[in-house]
Amino acid sequence: MSAGSWRAALAALGCALAGVDHVLAGCGPAFCAVRPPGHHATRARAMGFCLLSTAALAALYALERVDRVAVLDFDVHHGNGTQDILWDEARAAYISTHQWPFYPSTGAEGEVGAHGQVTNIPLPAGTGSPAYRRAFLDRVLPALRAAAPGLLIVSAGFDAHADDPLGGLALTTQDFGWIGAQIGALPTLSLLEGGYNHTALAASVRAYAEGLKGGGL
Ligand SMILES: [Zn+2]
Repeated sequence: MSAGSWRAALAALGCALAGVDHVLAGCGPAFCAVRPPGHHATRARAMGFCLLSTAALAALYALERVDRVAVLDFDVHHGNGTQDILWDEARAAYISTHQWPFYPSTGAEGEVGAHGQVTNIPLPAGTGSPAYRRAFLDRVLPALRAAAPGLLIVSAGFDAHADDPLGGLALTTQDFGWIGAQIGALPTLSLLEGGYNHTALAASVRAYAEGLKGGGL
């Protein structure tokens, strides 16, 4: 943290809420290139570089206007804070792919939310493109279709890239473009989470955004 972190966290949240307004107004997908990330912050505690649970707060804000929301989290880490805050919210699906076992030690397959609306897809270290894409097609897309969200919020972390210094998964830049293409037909608000190799991060964000523009669920 630094003296500016709190202000940055508030600005990130403001950007996310403005993004909800933007997407729900029919203006197309939005990507919030913000830091700090948010998905580890719980109701009671900041953790894992995260001060405010931006994605969960954006989801609750969106539920004032849509019947159902979904949060898809493809950061290499499990979004324990998002899950914590949305655990009791039947109208908010939370779907996460993440390295397992790994920080923050949550995200087991048996953690399904108070209403069965949470889908955790833990993946072993070293998981690369073929196994990741299979898990996405077999688990993520059916859960998204079942959720039928009026808004999809994406915790878009890029630390599952093979070149990331923190994560142990082995996704490629092209995989993030592929993910974008799978969900591009939904009204989508993406929030930057992790991603710690700046070269891989920039290329992956670009590929993801291009995938979003061209894809379909
Ligand atoms: Zn992460």
